[in-house]
Amino acid sequence: MINTKIVDIELMEKLAELTSRAADYCYQCGTCTGSCPLNLLNPESINPRRIVRSAQLGLVYDDGNLWHCSTCGLCEAKCPWSIKIPDVVRAYRQISSEKRKIPQKFEEILWMVYEDGTAFPGSSMERAAWTEGLNIRDASKQKVQVLLYVGCAVSFDKRLQKVAASLAKVLSTAGVDFGVLGRQERCCGDVVYNIGEDAFLEELASQNIERFNKTGAEAIITISPHSAHMFKKVYPRYGLKIPAYHYVEFLNDLIEKGKIRMSKPLDHEVTVHDPCYLGRYLKLYEEPRKILSSIPGTKIIEMNDIKENAICCGSGGGRHFLDIHGERLSHYRVAQAAQTGAKTLVAPCPFCIQNFEDSVKTKKLGLYVRDVVELVDQSLNGEVR
Ligand code: SF4
Ligand code: SF4
Repeated sequence: MINTKIVDIELMEKLAELTSRAADYCYQCGTCTGSCPLNLLNPESINPRRIVRSAQLGLVYDDGNLWHCSTCGLCEAKCPWSIKIPDVVRAYRQISSEKRKIPQKFEEILWMVYEDGTAFPGSSMERAAWTEGLNIRDASKQKVQVLLYVGCAVSFDKRLQKVAASLAKVLSTAGVDFGVLGRQERCCGDVVYNIGEDAFLEELASQNIERFNKTGAEAIITISPHSAHMFKKVYPRYGLKIPAYHYVEFLNDLIEKGKIRMSKPLDHEVTVHDPCYLGRYLKLYEEPRKILSSIPGTKIIEMNDIKENAICCGSGGGRHFLDIHGERLSHYRVAQAAQTGAKTLVAPCPFCIQNFEDSVKTKKLGLYVRDVVELVDQSLNGEVR
């Protein structure tokens, strides 16, 4: 809860600086709280209106619910002043981090990233295991034009490795000169950013930028929208100059230039989920839809709450690592997808795929969950994975 006895001018100024005075224009209409999907599931959970008010007044806000926010940005999209509420949440987290008041699980994750560069269970020595038999170049040993940044979740999760394999096959088919860093790859720092450990993030980002520069790559492409957000919006402040793209941008460009031509009709209906960091953060709403529309026989049936109104899967902002009980947002989202009657729910984000597949099983829904590139691969190479 807010500690109203502690009004701290220094804190107020610090919050204003950290958020570029984001909270100043708030007039407490409450639209943010009314639109927060996590607050809807549990009113005792995160309350963005109160957080913004606390920042305006310089109140301490170190309630545990601060860590429940998925930083999805739906509140910001609905706010009449477009107040950057996730930035206010992150500023409070940064202040809590400075006092070492963070959930124990985050302490563990930070140590994992610090010691071995991985936010997920697994050794950096195993990062390239998924590439076996795929003939993918090692960008730490030879120059490549395009660096494929794989990310922690995809490197270590068997299901998600299939997405990476599909992307590698599609890039090879299109004749793209690409490679991966393999054992040399390290966490992008999305979780570090969302915990608010900025000093560590600077160190991690600087080391990653050095690795990226050594490859000589002219572009970086990512599988996760979270990594894309880090490289596009956060790393430039630490000196990253190489342009970064989420793979849907890159793939859509290849399709538009005629370098990828899909021929095998898939003959099915799909519905598209807009991941928060791909959509609201990077505004990449059309690319997944354009790619899917170029696959013969594929029809998109839109579900409710799409694009800037999309409901989060519940995993962003570090929530993926926390054991939060109660009804899950992903249950709600897969139900929305199933309502369309589509056979496949397409979600171009590793976290969303994991969450939705769990929810589909839990709710016993007859729905496939796929990344965009898996369907491209299926149409190009005729394989059902
Ligand atoms: S929606 Fe915007 S203006 Fe309204 S309470 Fe929330 S932050 Fe303030
Ligand atoms: S960012 Fe998302 S989860 Fe966090 S307060 Fe806003 S709507 Fe709620």
